[in-house]
Amino acid sequence: MIDHEERRLDGNAIGGLLREIFAMEMTAAVGTCAACGAVNVVGRVHVYIHAPGTVVRCPDCEAVLMRVVRGKGRYWIDMTGVRSLEFAAG
Ligand SMILES: [Zn+2]
Repeated sequence: MIDHEERRLDGNAIGGLLREIFAMEMTAAVGTCAACGAVNVVGRVHVYIHAPGTVVRCPDCEAVLMRVVRGKGRYWIDMTGVRSLEFAAG
């Protein structure tokens, strides 16, 4: 199903991007996959940086958790695949 294994990075690859968006460290944030219910820290998710944006997949079922596109001074974030996101208050 996934043929981009060689391009796969871990969640630390989106640490900087998420810090820009949420204005806090997010690699220790915990997300729940809407597809399979797996709970993983952001640092453990699978990240694919290609196409027009960044795709984050569940390490348990490979469903898309999050898609982030950045351009023209704006961010577009699709978090349909994340049932919940929990992180420490700043
Ligand atoms: Zn999943």
